Amino acid sequence: TDFQSLGLSEGLLTAVAENGYDTPTPIQKQAIPLILEGRDLMGLAQTGTGKTAAFGLPLIDRLLDEDQRPRPRGTRALILAPTRELVNQIAKNLTSFLKKTPLRVTSVVGGVSIAGQIKRLSKGTDILVATPGRLLDLVDRQAVDLRSASYLVLDEADQMLDLGFIHALRRIAGLVAKERQTLLFSATMPKQINELARSYLSNPERVEV
Ligand code: AMP
Repeated sequence: TDFQSLGLSEGLLTAVAENGYDTPTPIQKQAIPLILEGRDLMGLAQTGTGKTAAFGLPLIDRLLDEDQRPRPRGTRALILAPTRELVNQIAKNLTSFLKKTPLRVTSVVGGVSIAGQIKRLSKGTDILVATPGRLLDLVDRQAVDLRSASYLVLDEADQMLDLGFIHALRRIAGLVAKERQTLLFSATMPKQINELARSYLSNPERVEV
């Protein structure tokens, strides 16, 4: 199987090729068609398996597809990850697929000045990648509107729970659109992750690599 059989649009296939990706990884083969169908998904996968592109490529495809309609001013896709490093890595990986598209990605993390982030968010963004704590700081300052976020990705969900973000995650899940597609990735599936999935995913498909 190569990328062409997964259902991604032509433009995105060009971007994939320009990035030097020849063959989809196992998680990409499994997850991309399901996400393009609009399914909620629970993915058991470690970092290094290509999971960023596994959720990022179909997400970008769906956002580009919706671009025919008037675009909401607020954030359209929210990706949460446990650490600064991972947030920056995700944003960088997504940006590499967005060169020939009008989509904008913004990342916000703790430990750096919030003023610059507020300013950048005021210009609007399609995809927001964030750590949960800083995101809630920005929500409390009314710097970000999540009501139009109809895609929610929880990456390294087990790490986020280990870092004590469960209340933050619950609060954020209440702020994004009720009608949405939710994707959860985790390296392990302890009971708490299953509970999280039961609360926030709708009839999820499970993929494991
Ligand atoms: P990730 O697990 O998403 O952090 O990805 C790990 C690394 O693999 C990143 O540097 C990606 O750019 C790269 N990568 C992901 N998918 C592919 C692919 N299908 N072919 C080649 N490299 C890939």
